[in-house]
Amino acid sequence: MRKTKKFLFSIFALGMASFSLISCGDSEKTTTKTITESVGPTETETETPTTSNPILDIIGEFNWEEYAGATFTYKLGEDGEEIEVSATITKEETTIPSCTKDGLNTYIAKVVINGEEFIEKKEEVVPKLNHKYENPEYVWAYDYSTCKASVYCEYCQNEITEEVTSTKDVLNEVSCSRDGLTKYTVEFTNEVFEDQEVEVTTPKTEDHDYTYKYTWSIDNKECMAEAVCSVCNGTITEKKETEESIITTATCLQDGIIIYTANFDNYIFETQSKEVNIGRASHKLDKYYGYPATFFNEGRIEHNKCTVCGKLFDLSGKEITDASIPVLSKEISLAINNDKYALTLVEDNENSIQWKLEASEVKVGDTIKLFLKDGSEYSFFNGDGIDDDYKVTVDATDVTFNVLATPNGVAISLEYETEEKGIFVEVTNDSGVTLYPMSEINYNFGTETNSYVYGYISLLVGDKVLIKDTINDKTYGYNDILESEIWRSHYFTCGDNGEIIINTTDRVGFEFSRNGDEKLTLAFVHDPVTVTSMEVGVKGEVDTAPLTKNTISEDSNEYGYALHMLNHETTVNATDIKEYILANGYIVYQIELPISAPMSIYLKDNSGNTYGYSVFESKYSSSDFTYSNDEGYIHLETSGTYVIMFIPSCGNIAISFAPASASSDAYYMTSKESSFTGLTKDSNNIVTVSNIDFDKNGYIAFTDSSYNMLTVTLDTTTDFIVSSTLLMCTKAGKYTLTLNLDTLVVHVDVVEYVTLSGLVDGAAINLGSYSSKTFKRNASNEAEVVAEGMVITAANQYVSIMDPNGEGVTDITVASDSSSLISLLAAGSYFLVFAETGTYNIYVNEDTHVVRVVKTA
Ligand SMILES: [Zn+2]
Ligand SMILES: [Zn+2]
Ligand SMILES: [Zn+2]
Repeated sequence: MRKTKKFLFSIFALGMASFSLISCGDSEKTTTKTITESVGPTETETETPTTSNPILDIIGEFNWEEYAGATFTYKLGEDGEEIEVSATITKEETTIPSCTKDGLNTYIAKVVINGEEFIEKKEEVVPKLNHKYENPEYVWAYDYSTCKASVYCEYCQNEITEEVTSTKDVLNEVSCSRDGLTKYTVEFTNEVFEDQEVEVTTPKTEDHDYTYKYTWSIDNKECMAEAVCSVCNGTITEKKETEESIITTATCLQDGIIIYTANFDNYIFETQSKEVNIGRASHKLDKYYGYPATFFNEGRIEHNKCTVCGKLFDLSGKEITDASIPVLSKEISLAINNDKYALTLVEDNENSIQWKLEASEVKVGDTIKLFLKDGSEYSFFNGDGIDDDYKVTVDATDVTFNVLATPNGVAISLEYETEEKGIFVEVTNDSGVTLYPMSEINYNFGTETNSYVYGYISLLVGDKVLIKDTINDKTYGYNDILESEIWRSHYFTCGDNGEIIINTTDRVGFEFSRNGDEKLTLAFVHDPVTVTSMEVGVKGEVDTAPLTKNTISEDSNEYGYALHMLNHETTVNATDIKEYILANGYIVYQIELPISAPMSIYLKDNSGNTYGYSVFESKYSSSDFTYSNDEGYIHLETSGTYVIMFIPSCGNIAISFAPASASSDAYYMTSKESSFTGLTKDSNNIVTVSNIDFDKNGYIAFTDSSYNMLTVTLDTTTDFIVSSTLLMCTKAGKYTLTLNLDTLVVHVDVVEYVTLSGLVDGAAINLGSYSSKTFKRNASNEAEVVAEGMVITAANQYVSIMDPNGEGVTDITVASDSSSLISLLAAGSYFLVFAETGTYNIYVNEDTHVVRVVKTA
């Protein structure tokens, strides 16, 4: 290389010489000899001298000492002496180095020899600069999963980045009990960056590791939820009232299923539910009255019947299959002083059974008892020859005990040869003459005195009837019939001898000397009739209107009540009515009819039989209207709307009156008054019936303003039971009732209970009537109840003290101040025996049952 330069320089120097030749005047040929030496690969262009110089050439060359200095060695001509001089060096920064590009320095060495300038250039490559990266920045990802490093070159702002996925090292696991600590580490590839690490704290969490427990209360009304954290032992509890939904309602036939559900407020708890079998409900019982069996009809024990399953239960709650009591066996016996004798059945009719026992001898004081087939003793009414203590009253031989059973009971009389004085109904017909002894009774109606009655006698057409008073030896007949009864002349006529001649086959009750006027009243008792339809007609008109047939359900309380009453009623044909109802059902035909008075009406059945005034029972009818007999028609004299009923079991027509002008909001009727009483509602649509006295089993019924019976309910358990339209009182007393006409709910308030009732007893069989008194609170002594104005018509007449259930009060004692007036029939008896006639107030202490009487007249 050096050699080449030398060579090149040499050529250059020739060139210069040539320049020197022409430097005298030819400026165009002036040139600067330049020697260029490249550093590195750069080639230098060479210039060939144009001509040879005739003067001595300066032959030389630069010798560089690196770049800082250079010498020029030359000769003048080929043969000249070699001379060395120093060159001046000038440096030029041709290219400034950068981070991406080398720099270039140019050094120019210059010498001037003999006025001739020699120059040589030398270039120095300055290597490019290195980037300078300092203070890198590290940015972690939000989740520390990566870290990004970045740095700028201080010189050129060039940016280097590197993002690296971190290595995660969990130092502390986070939990509900302590903070978590995690170390993230990154290692960068680029050496500019340093490895980084960071420790991250995670606050402890609410994420507990709960174990749940749910505890139900015994009654399932509450559920307690409990969550216990197994890590921190933190506990959360919540007690929640459960909701109850009935899946299956419990009845006596099916189990009740209830689902209890607890919905907790705290979301961490799950809704809990529990299905509970609550088992069966108890039976829903309706009470049915009992009545005893007779020789004629089955009886029925008092019992309950479930309205759901229909099972029957006795009063102790034991299930029974049959509530009926069989008809009494007719194999009965009679005991005289405890010697038992079988009775001989002599007659067995529909309504009467007769037995007899012939005995050789009886003595005064012999005790008579009656026994049923099963050996139990049976009570009876004492007739002729037997006193109230069931002892024989005569000494006699060849006597006959006549035992007569009717549906009202059994009577035993002793038949013996003696003439008895008294008042008799004498009936004469083809069979001969029969005397029926009349019984003396007393009515407590003000001034009335005794009457003589005979319940009823079945008479045939042509029978002749007289009343014989063998005490006074007097005879009474047709002319002694009460004037007001004479209209019944189609039933009877006057015989040639003043006797009553019967024109109808019927049963007739007799009452004599009522009002003390020695007048006779005949009560014709209607037979039950069987009809299939009923119409009402008007006298003189062809058209009729049908009555509606209503059958009262055997399961209803009305039905039970009717039979209960019939068993206790003393009406002469109660038995017939009962039998009819048992055989045919409890049927009522009825119609509501507006009548423009005066109008005469009658009823007609499907067979064309007509019914009119003779079967019109005014006792069931209202007193709000007037009526009379129009040739057997019922002549209604008051205009208005009537309810006309025909009751086949009684053969009766009953009429009640609904006044046309009535404007009441509702009406009520009670068992004591068979007429309707109007009620006016208050602003809440409530009607009130105040201070009404009810006997046990008395009832009340409400109607709307159009006399439609209202089916009511009771708001709470009271002393009343409800059966459809009837509210029946189970405890005698005075009550106030309110009826909400919107809801038909009745509310009952007790004003006071009547705890005792009184009856004047002593009626003979088939008498059909006796007086009763109801005890009321004694105003001057709260502890006592009083029955006022009890009329005692004969010495040794007795009065029974009954409780509201109709049971005798057997723990009575007589107050010492009253012992001269009254005594007990026997210890434990509920009969008071009065020593003398008079009018009495009877006081009973409700707590002690001490009885005292005050004679007022
Ligand atoms: Zn740079
Ligand atoms: Zn926890
Ligand atoms: Zn049941």
